[in-house]
Amino acid sequence: MNKKIVFNGSCGCGNVKYKIINEPLFTQACHCKDCKKSTGSSFVIHTMVLSNEFQVNGDVASIDLPTGSGKGVNAYFCIICGVYVFCKYKVSEGRIAVRTKTLENPLEPQAHIFVKDKDPWIEIKDKTICHDEMYDREKTWSKESLERIK
Ligand SMILES: [Zn+2]
Ligand SMILES: [Zn+2]
Repeated sequence: MNKKIVFNGSCGCGNVKYKIINEPLFTQACHCKDCKKSTGSSFVIHTMVLSNEFQVNGDVASIDLPTGSGKGVNAYFCIICGVYVFCKYKVSEGRIAVRTKTLENPLEPQAHIFVKDKDPWIEIKDKTICHDEMYDREKTWSKESLERIK
């Protein structure tokens, strides 16, 4: 019998709670200027999941933000504490990017992107997972994850 893996997460105040009901697709850190601005910090970590494997409870507000691709992103916030919990990139239909550190047990990044914009005082030990800009998904994601987004 297959035991279902469930990942739980929440905002800062507990109003928004979510569940990922399958293994996430991929987790990555982005060091680009947009992510720096949106976090007020040096990078963001996103865990990619399928929309139909993501369940959210509690009131969220959503706004449209610009992205480097020009297509934009819908960002979702807790209406009480303001924590930015997840987003939907319009280029990635059917998928959600969860802000990894809102997970109960955050996952480690499998790739670092836009490392060309990385703060100089951050040292990433594993250089093999660093990409100057974006990676080639076909070469970076697992076969299983690639299969699941088809
Ligand atoms: Zn909250
Ligand atoms: Zn970014």
